[in-house]
Amino acid sequence: MKYISTRGQSPALSFSQILLGGLAPDGGLYLPETYPQFTDADLTAMRGLSYADLAFAILSRFVDDIPAADLKAIIDKTYRADVYAFTRAGQNAADITPTLKLEDNLYLLSLSNGPTLAFKDMAMQLLGNLFEYVLTKEGKTTNILGATSGDTGSAAEYAMRGKKGIRVFMLSPHKKMSRFQTAQMFSLQDDNIYNIAVNGVFDDCQDMVKAVSNDAEFKAQYKIGAVNSINWGRIVAQVVYYFKGYFAVTQNNSQKVSFSVPSGNFGNVCAGHIARMMGLPIDKLVVATNENDVLDEFFKTGVYSPRGSANTYHTSSPSMDISKASNFERFVFDLVGRDSDKTRALWTQVDSGNSFDLNADGYFAKIADYGFVSGSSNHAHRMQTIRETKAKYEVVIDTHTADGLKVALAHLDAQTPMVVLETALPAKFEDAIVEALGQASERPAALNGIESLPQKFTVMDASAADIKTFIANNT
Ligand SMILES: *Cc1c(COP(=O)(O)O)cnc(C)c1O
Repeated sequence: MKYISTRGQSPALSFSQILLGGLAPDGGLYLPETYPQFTDADLTAMRGLSYADLAFAILSRFVDDIPAADLKAIIDKTYRADVYAFTRAGQNAADITPTLKLEDNLYLLSLSNGPTLAFKDMAMQLLGNLFEYVLTKEGKTTNILGATSGDTGSAAEYAMRGKKGIRVFMLSPHKKMSRFQTAQMFSLQDDNIYNIAVNGVFDDCQDMVKAVSNDAEFKAQYKIGAVNSINWGRIVAQVVYYFKGYFAVTQNNSQKVSFSVPSGNFGNVCAGHIARMMGLPIDKLVVATNENDVLDEFFKTGVYSPRGSANTYHTSSPSMDISKASNFERFVFDLVGRDSDKTRALWTQVDSGNSFDLNADGYFAKIADYGFVSGSSNHAHRMQTIRETKAKYEVVIDTHTADGLKVALAHLDAQTPMVVLETALPAKFEDAIVEALGQASERPAALNGIESLPQKFTVMDASAADIKTFIANNT
């Protein structure tokens, strides 16, 4: 299996060759040359597999340059009940992504039982083990530099802590994350984790990362890497739980299932699109956005108009506050018939700050063939959905999942189970829960008092020179 760039001007590479990188050299995103196909008989054989065995059945079709026994060992080490232990009452941690039935044909798929209480652990934990394996094998090391306003940074740190050959330098805006998120990250005492609290806002942190990445010499000398959301390894790991969720709510493969996905960078729902292309009987893929509704606008009109950070709202589902969906290019590549010249032309427009319209040439008319529908939600909807879900089902959901559920309800049909992906646990967004319900949600016992643990971090001004010096002094 080789991987090609959506922009068609980079050489095809193997899984391990693209694993540690980000964008392809031509600026495109990697996708497999073809999607592996699963027949009805394959699906029947996969029903009832454990999460790890299911992950192996799927990932082994995408990875052909890691020996099968090694891949199996990496997967078994990743998807363990004790790693995904923060289950709700009545759920079995061994399921890794258990479902929770709200009512007939309406389910939550719990993707947030991992160490940082958000779905990013599903892929990032695998990435940590894959990185360590590939680096060790090649005798290499990497220094991961990232910027975070919360979720991605903590998922990356929990995935990479203690891993051989890997150091993590994570920039976050000083005193701007929630107390809980700060404690999650800063209480890590591992030698290979460096938390850097920047005097500034998230954009300042991102600018520092960009400045380092643009310094080719420094980047090469210090082997600077990233774990951003366009990493193919993250996408492919997320394909697995669509299969798991599908099997959990169906008796046989003649039943179609719809999934509703709280979306920002389009990584999660892109994995659903790939699962559908592989033959999983998915009916609709519901793209749920918050007030930052660029994707909803596209799926309703065929016009994609990314916005800048000045036009991106800060909302109570902050992990979806994104107005330029980096993984969206992967889907558009498929939609335009995998025409890389067309994709490159479209993103040349996007990269120079313009929008594009896919109504011409009949592309947008094909959108229904891919199952996509969409909707958006806002703060009032989130609060109301959290309250109603508590009242009706005695279940407390977080703000992102509330966006997903709110939009899902507009796309229900009597014949098709709807699975809403739960992308974070409510304990992670306590203030919003207090606002909605008048009291905090229950926090997993193991995390009680996390705010009073000793914290390890370095405060720094928003200076590219300072972060370079820091990296140089600590490698
Ligand atoms: C990252 C994130 C999302 C958005 O996922 P994308 O893959 O970027 O679309 C939604 N909810 C939560 C809680 C997240 O952390």
